[in-house]
Amino acid sequence: MTTISADTLPDALGASARAFISQTHRLLIGEERLEAADGQTFTTLDPSSGLAIAEVAQAGAEDVARAVAAAREAFSSGPWSTMPASGRERLMLALAAAIEERAEEFAQIESLDNGKPVGLAQYVDVNGAVGHLRYFAGWPTKIEGSVLPVTAPDMLCYTRREAVGVCAQIVPWNFPLLMTAWKLGPALAAGCTIVLKPAEQTPLSALRLGELALEVGFPPGVLNVLTGDGSTGAALVDHPDVDKIAFTGSTAVGREIGAKAGKALKRVTLELGGKSPNVILPDADVAAAIKGSFQAIYFNSGQACNAGSRLFVPAERYDEVMGALAEAAGAARLGPGLDPDTQLGPLVSAEQQERVMGYIDAGRAEGAEVLAGGSSTLADSGGYFVAPTLFSTTSDELRISREEIFGPVLVASPYDTLEEVAERANAGEYGLAAGVWTRDVSSAHRLAAMLRAGSVYINTWGAVDPSAPFGGFKSSGIGREHGHDGLDAYLETKTVWSAL
Ligand code: NAP
Ligand code: MG
Repeated sequence: MTTISADTLPDALGASARAFISQTHRLLIGEERLEAADGQTFTTLDPSSGLAIAEVAQAGAEDVARAVAAAREAFSSGPWSTMPASGRERLMLALAAAIEERAEEFAQIESLDNGKPVGLAQYVDVNGAVGHLRYFAGWPTKIEGSVLPVTAPDMLCYTRREAVGVCAQIVPWNFPLLMTAWKLGPALAAGCTIVLKPAEQTPLSALRLGELALEVGFPPGVLNVLTGDGSTGAALVDHPDVDKIAFTGSTAVGREIGAKAGKALKRVTLELGGKSPNVILPDADVAAAIKGSFQAIYFNSGQACNAGSRLFVPAERYDEVMGALAEAAGAARLGPGLDPDTQLGPLVSAEQQERVMGYIDAGRAEGAEVLAGGSSTLADSGGYFVAPTLFSTTSDELRISREEIFGPVLVASPYDTLEEVAERANAGEYGLAAGVWTRDVSSAHRLAAMLRAGSVYINTWGAVDPSAPFGGFKSSGIGREHGHDGLDAYLETKTVWSAL
């Protein structure tokens, strides 16, 4: 086992993040902090250096059973089950405020555990999580049924919207705190209880959030946090007393969870991968399109489900756009997340670096041209860095053109007509996001209607808001998060008939 102490953590870490990270990390079940029943632990690393930062409890099936029982108890008979809607609102606002007060601490924890630039962590992950919880705190007091004008005489018929029950929420490592807040917001608003499973690469921010939820007064058992790996997630999915599963992650695991949920008839929402096409039209503001397309792929080192990873450029502007993107990629500052000058952090793990390098090698072998990057970098740091990479190809059939790479790798191609590019952009198995850069209102909205994707961005990329539905067409998922649609996924409709 690795020896870890507060002194071996990076100097850039503030006192509160340091104190939290160096404590013993146990499971959060009900109001207890427990070692795993079998005593197992695992190590979480700093991806900027490859060094261990904390040892964390590894939940097994017995812990899953205990956590689900705690969630069931809180749902059925604890104070949560009878709490008025305004009480849920108050607690959610208190949790949002508690995170906001500790924004710097959360940003540092996230940056160290995931590798992402600390400014990005604060602005996107922490502020986003706070905003999401605040938005959903507005919902409990607005969840209404309706009285129905049924034909039968002397009959009162009405609907009640009721919480689905115990929810298993499984989140990935790319935006650990934010994805957690995306899942918690609607579930708590609806009155559900939760067993949360963060990714093994980034377990820390969820544990901090879980202890804060107890501190601000959430009844024990409403939010349980089980750290562990894929087997922990699978045990949670398989538990018969889980009513709903919400998952964000790879399409492969999403398919497996979807199949299990189908068999057990559990409610399920899946937010999966993407290979999102970004289309520059001939009349676009090219400077804005280049800047936006750079951010679309390299933001968070390409580790975003809605990354704009496939770029289509009019043949007559191709060389100009490629030149500018290659130059910008070459100039990007890579470094540890906690360095305030870093633009692109490392990938989350050695495994992810290997996977991305495998795609880069495959792209070369299949004949695509490397215009920037194309290698791992900063090897002396011990971190998992990959240089921002730009491929050019005319083929839509290469692995790098079709599969989700989930790293800083952009695959660009020239095209000739609008109809051609719409067809090519829609060709893959995914349908999470798509983008259009144009000054022409009519082509913008024609293309927006033609693209088979859950989100379409016009002259921007990656815009997100708690009120705006987010999710995928085709193999990019099932259901939507955010807004009314996101809340609905945590509610059942009960129809009550009463003879008068
Ligand atoms: P993953 O395996 O899908 O992991 C996502 C979450 O599911 C993690 O919490 C993971 O736990 C858990 N999990 C894994 N196997 C499970 C199972 N059989 N049943 C229930 N839960 C399970 O993703 P990954 O292996 O970390 O990354 C692989 C690829 O997935 C990436 O290269 C990328 O293409 C894609 N990905 C997509 C997103 C997205 O936002 N759509 C996010 C992350 C990754 P552990 O991590 O602890 O094993
Ligand atoms: Mg880590």
